[in-house]
Amino acid sequence: MDKKAFHHRIAFGVWLNDFRNEPITSQKWPSVIIDQQTISDFQQTMGFIHRAGFTAIDLFGLLTNRDWPQDIERVISSDRKVLVDRLIETIHSHNLELIYGLGVYSWGFDTIIRNNPEVRGTNLSAMCGSREKARVLMEKVIDFVGENFAVDGYHLEVADQGRCRCEDCSKEDDIAYYNRLNQQTAIYIRTRWPEKLLLVNTSGYLPWGDWIPAEDFHSVFDLGRTIDIFIDGGNHGQFIYEKDRQQFIAQLPCQYGTSGGFWIYPPQRWDRLRWFLPYFLRSAAHLRQLYWDGSRSCELYLGPLNNPGTEVTLFCLGRFLQDVDQKPLDLLEAAAEEIYQIHNPRQRQIFVELFHDAEMAFFNHSFPHRLTNLPEKYSDGIDTLFQWSKVHQERAIPGEFFLDSLLGEYPPFPVYLALHMNREGRLRYRKELGKLLKMAKSLLVIGGESWYRMRSIERCIQNVIQDLDMIHAIPELNI
Ligand SMILES: [Zn+2]
Repeated sequence: MDKKAFHHRIAFGVWLNDFRNEPITSQKWPSVIIDQQTISDFQQTMGFIHRAGFTAIDLFGLLTNRDWPQDIERVISSDRKVLVDRLIETIHSHNLELIYGLGVYSWGFDTIIRNNPEVRGTNLSAMCGSREKARVLMEKVIDFVGENFAVDGYHLEVADQGRCRCEDCSKEDDIAYYNRLNQQTAIYIRTRWPEKLLLVNTSGYLPWGDWIPAEDFHSVFDLGRTIDIFIDGGNHGQFIYEKDRQQFIAQLPCQYGTSGGFWIYPPQRWDRLRWFLPYFLRSAAHLRQLYWDGSRSCELYLGPLNNPGTEVTLFCLGRFLQDVDQKPLDLLEAAAEEIYQIHNPRQRQIFVELFHDAEMAFFNHSFPHRLTNLPEKYSDGIDTLFQWSKVHQERAIPGEFFLDSLLGEYPPFPVYLALHMNREGRLRYRKELGKLLKMAKSLLVIGGESWYRMRSIERCIQNVIQDLDMIHAIPELNI
């Protein structure tokens, strides 16, 4: 029988250091430092995702995070160019394609906007979409990347930082505006480099919780004629209503995909063993349905592989994407065999139960939606960062799940245990974790490198219990 595989199985960085095995506490998110740790974790991760079955890596931050200089070519030193070339070689040596994360009019233009009134509209993080000078600058960035680096495609990100709402730009509604800038950028790349893969990600296209109305589909179909993949990520719900999806995909001239329904955004400044939250089963259920609706592309977020929940989830998802008819529990067993080298069938069974039960324990005792009225210092800090649906806030369910506050304005805090759980849920979750801890300990009899891996699982669970106890002692979170 034919395997029911996704064709474009893209691992999404997102940023250069999001899958780093050590936290970064001295720099603001998103850090784009390239040091020895970046390089060695990069090599490890590219080897891992290739073995798991991913076909490409989509990556932001090779050159800059927010600041192209006015003189575009001066963005990096010759030393950094050598390092970036080395990272790209690492990607290609593992038979992966590099999809370069390209901010379209935004993500990279903060300094230029600040210093250049000719491209400045109403948004200090996004150039005005009606100025000729902005289009010229955008093309200069593309020329620089395309002429100097061996990229295989581009991820176009136009909406994540909002948009210009000057008098000229305001004549277009959000969907038409973002699609026009993406299309204009895609056409420019196509004209110069027709063979490059072009992907558009919808992050920020609409307020979280809204859907693209069916009467606006034609604008996306138009865009679809210029690009290869349209990723409706689903940071807080997809923008294509699930019941419309099958028909939408059938009419879309390019491929449609999501980011797997649920993912953890790696906390830059956290100890990598502070959480144990595998989500393979949840994501596999979403991806199977997506496949049946006609999707053949997706991009799934990476994370630090020394977090055992992250490693096993990504390994199983990579395998699952190669044939969605596979049974998820069989893939967890494959992870026990291949990653943990557990050859004893009874021990493998305990391992499968451990990961299955850990996922259930969290999702059975947490709320999918965000709790309101939480003091800011205990929240993820994204409420004011994004636009939220005025009519259907209840639809804005992550999707993208933050464990700590994204921008790190407050001391590190396990916001996910406060924002999605109440006192009762936390007590129950803690009890379940106690059982999981016993299961993990029972597997500490296995030897070699696997012992250290099991020990990491044990420490993760202990650390979550410690966080739960800490929250239990904060009166205002236990009303
Ligand atoms: Zn404008």
